[in-house]
Amino acid sequence: PITHVNGETIVRSPYPDLSIPQCSFAEYVFGQLDNFSDFALMVDNTSGRHFSGRKLKEYSIKVASALTKMGFKKGDRILIFCSNCPEYAIMFMACSAIGVIVSTANPVYTDGKEYHKVLNVTEKFYENSHTKRQIIAAELARQISHSESSAIVTLPGLMQTAVQAVNSSKDIAEQVKLIISIGNSDGAIPFSLLMEDDGKTFPENTDINSKEDILVLPYSSGTTGLPKGVMLSHYNIIANIEQLIRGPMSHLTAGKDSLIGVLPFYHIYGMVVVQFGSICLGTKLVTIPKFEPEPFLSAIQKNKISYMHLVPPLALFMAKSPLVEKFDVSTVQNMVFGAAPLGAGLTQELMDRIGANVIQGYGLTETSPATHFDTSPPKVGTVGHPLPNTQSKVIDVHTGKSLGPGETGEVLLAGPQVMLGYLKNQSATDDMVKDGWLHSGDIGHFDEEGYFMITDRLKELIKYKGFQVAPAELEALICTHPAVADVAVIGIQVGEDVGEVPKAYVVPKPGVTLTEEDITNFVDANVAPYKKLRGGVKLIDSIPKTASGKILRREVKNM
Ligand code: AMP
Repeated sequence: PITHVNGETIVRSPYPDLSIPQCSFAEYVFGQLDNFSDFALMVDNTSGRHFSGRKLKEYSIKVASALTKMGFKKGDRILIFCSNCPEYAIMFMACSAIGVIVSTANPVYTDGKEYHKVLNVTEKFYENSHTKRQIIAAELARQISHSESSAIVTLPGLMQTAVQAVNSSKDIAEQVKLIISIGNSDGAIPFSLLMEDDGKTFPENTDINSKEDILVLPYSSGTTGLPKGVMLSHYNIIANIEQLIRGPMSHLTAGKDSLIGVLPFYHIYGMVVVQFGSICLGTKLVTIPKFEPEPFLSAIQKNKISYMHLVPPLALFMAKSPLVEKFDVSTVQNMVFGAAPLGAGLTQELMDRIGANVIQGYGLTETSPATHFDTSPPKVGTVGHPLPNTQSKVIDVHTGKSLGPGETGEVLLAGPQVMLGYLKNQSATDDMVKDGWLHSGDIGHFDEEGYFMITDRLKELIKYKGFQVAPAELEALICTHPAVADVAVIGIQVGEDVGEVPKAYVVPKPGVTLTEEDITNFVDANVAPYKKLRGGVKLIDSIPKTASGKILRREVKNM
């Protein structure tokens, strides 16, 4: 797949190009759902509520009709603040059918980056846990306001936070016309009422321009700063689903394979790859509102899960937790990881224990999300090749020159899944997308066969006396130590002449003895001298992470 064009080295997909349908998202998904009418396509693990493809479509049309009666129309925005359940998909499809833009917000967790600034409080105040709801509400309020959402869809358990966000300012309280609750909440319209609509006001002919109209507005920090609204068109999302289900996920079988919906649907990976990837393939998707060890394992056993999309913290759990032995997970054939780096050592441990293929994919919210992923055959420690219709290259971070195999630089991406831009933020868009290439902010390289390796985030590289030390590389190594359950490595500033030195925060496995010196010696024996843990080692109880599995380095730094 490696090609040379005008003096540049560009890696293309080993898969043939696809022709991407240019229709509305609802038309695309409804067309697929018609094929899956006689078995449960989505199942809620907690309550057992289940929906066939035909039912999902019928309810989406009813909800779209109810929303139309309430006055919602093309271009309006609705924010979904909910954990995973089948109704999430129904609401999403209903909005897309009438051209309403969905913005998705994190239901359980806030990564807190920079939010003390939004609230005008000190970082110390933020750390205090009883202010957490206030922080989540402030994060939510900012997104409601910035996305100009006029309604919120939530759950009884999140209602209080939603109301707090709405009431946080007069403008937001005026902007939000109603709250819809999946399950009854005081002061909210029950979602069940929308599902009982007669469907008669469903507008058959909503005029949607697939390449120009926004389908969804997830919020992501991108390479820097506060979260930004990522404008993804109907075409972007249809393209990414097609790239996955006609590419590396094409071997999955409708009505046979079962997937687990544990990654949050508000995040692009859970939303597109897991939720709509599975719906469009016709595979069964079991939704889990939040990861809890025993219910998660028992859902795998009960539903004979064959294919799992996970993030690296769940790789640690599946590879290391003694609980895994108590359940039958032998039906799992493939485990796909994305959103954060997965080391080769942990990959091997996982394959040995579960007996499944371990595959990595790569992407960003800004690319809908997947750009790299493959299974034919997967190469351990790599994120695979570009997807169909996708091109990727690596450039020197200083000169911008295109690099060849084995040379490390910033990874650039191009394809139909690249976002329209950031909402109301042209300068951030221009920083990220230049001459048709999206600058990922990730450091990596490709090998002679065009397999990509992602080393780390550009901004997270530790600079020691001018040498670059990738935290992810040290983390991957330390993780292979038999007494280690989890680890994060950060850079500590030690003066201008030296720059930063790496320090490891290590979580020991329960019941083992592990000293800081054990880790120092282990690393010394396995790395080049400039990568040694000159910042020291600290043993801690847990590593703070985002819901999508990324280490919250800022919080680790504050420890
Ligand atoms: P998000 O927008 O939350 O999906 O985050 C995108 C970022 O996640 C990328 O820019 C990468 O830094 C990181 N990422 C995603 N997949 C991988 C992977 N397989 N290996 C390493 N980093 C990854």
